[in-house]
Amino acid sequence: MNTKSRTTLRKHLIEKREAIVKEAKREIEKFIRGEDKAIVETALDDGDWSVVDLAEDVNLKRLSNHRETLVKIDEALRKLDDGTYGICEECGQEISEKRLKVLPFAIYCKDCQEKKEKIEEVEKQEEVE
Ligand SMILES: [Zn+2]
Repeated sequence: MNTKSRTTLRKHLIEKREAIVKEAKREIEKFIRGEDKAIVETALDDGDWSVVDLAEDVNLKRLSNHRETLVKIDEALRKLDDGTYGICEECGQEISEKRLKVLPFAIYCKDCQEKKEKIEEVEKQEEVE
């Protein structure tokens, strides 16, 4: 992956990150008021999701999806920084740019991903039996 696509990707990831944090804040703020609101405002910017507990009624399922995506984004950004982005965690080969375009958070190449899915499939079946 060249420098230009790395820069584009980083920008894209940061924008996505901001959009998700904004959306999460909106959802949490529906359920809380007053000074708690200010706490949420700053905490989420810092990636502190413990504030979610302030809003007990909040739609936690949705928020945990947001949170998972944020973790993936942060991981991708970290990898961009240390130069390991786009390298399969399993076999160390470069993941194709085509694949990364569709799945920017992919951590495995296509082959390894398929292998893993097959193993998971088998494990699932074993649990059932
Ligand atoms: Zn691989």
